[in-house]
Amino acid sequence: MNRIERLAPRLEEPLLVTGLVNVRYLTGLESSNAAVLVDPAGAATLYTDFRYAEAARDVDGVEFHQTPRYVVTALAELLSGRRVGVEAAHLSLASADTLRTGGVELVSTTGLVEGLRAVKEPGELEALRRAGAISDRVYTELGEQPFVGRTEAELAWWLEQAWHEAGADGPSFGAIVAFGENGARPHAKLRDEPIPEGTLVVVDAGCSVDGYASDCTRTFFTGQPDGRLREIYDLCLQAQIDGLAAIRPGAIGRDVDAASRVAIEAAGMGDHYGHGLGHGVGLDVHEEPNLRPESSSVLEAGNVVTVEPGIYLSGDVGVRIEDMVVVTDDGCERLTAVTKDPVAVG
Ligand code: ZN
Ligand code: ZN
Repeated sequence: MNRIERLAPRLEEPLLVTGLVNVRYLTGLESSNAAVLVDPAGAATLYTDFRYAEAARDVDGVEFHQTPRYVVTALAELLSGRRVGVEAAHLSLASADTLRTGGVELVSTTGLVEGLRAVKEPGELEALRRAGAISDRVYTELGEQPFVGRTEAELAWWLEQAWHEAGADGPSFGAIVAFGENGARPHAKLRDEPIPEGTLVVVDAGCSVDGYASDCTRTFFTGQPDGRLREIYDLCLQAQIDGLAAIRPGAIGRDVDAASRVAIEAAGMGDHYGHGLGHGVGLDVHEEPNLRPESSSVLEAGNVVTVEPGIYLSGDVGVRIEDMVVVTDDGCERLTAVTKDPVAVG
């Protein structure tokens, strides 16, 4: 069954898919201005403008309707008098107003296509595996690079080139390279200051392969890993291993998250691990399912998630260790497998 055929039985009324990644998932069309209307019986119409018309005509299993420049303006007329589901997360208020003014009755929905995307097909897993393998190669090479005296921005640029050289389409998101106190900010901005000896450097980066993202974090030591820095590194690694061990089909997101907090809380560091354990990865770097304290996601074989606990000591240093895994029938398999032993860089 194709993706549209799997979506249709989940629908109570026709669904107007306007999330561009969801449009891509359902039809293969990459466009900045497109929508697809799927009805519960499985018929689908793809709307886009002249710029994408040729690619849209090649999509199997859908009717193609070419619209003027703005798809939503055209849909307001085409769907006038009809009741359609819309994707609340992917329809702007301005677009909703345009549709309503045109006489379209909107029913808010969430997560319909995202629910399908959460369970990867073999072809998707293959792309994710390749992205993971490239990530492993690039992180191994990164560990052989000099860090001391170079800036976070320079290393981020090195990574950007390395992704291309290793055969990826490019980065899946802007790399985070953060030493010292910057590492205590989970989403740190790159700085132009030289990296010193004797600190920790958090590197969170990923590549894109056929549209599928990798996402991996390693924390490097400039100089020999010992003392206090080694202790917090080992604690974070224990939390990561505990999180990985809790992943299996049927596990609930919040329980997997909780498993990763036991060691950190026992060490009195619970307040320094302020984000969720992980997130789904696929066409988007962040997608379903989620591993967070409030997550009720139930894991299924074929989900791809990250496992990324962190310890952030404000004004001091941070550690994060992140792998991307696929949920298997009895646990999980890592898609990023580069070493998690502490790596000392020069
Ligand atoms: Zn990451
Ligand atoms: Zn992540």
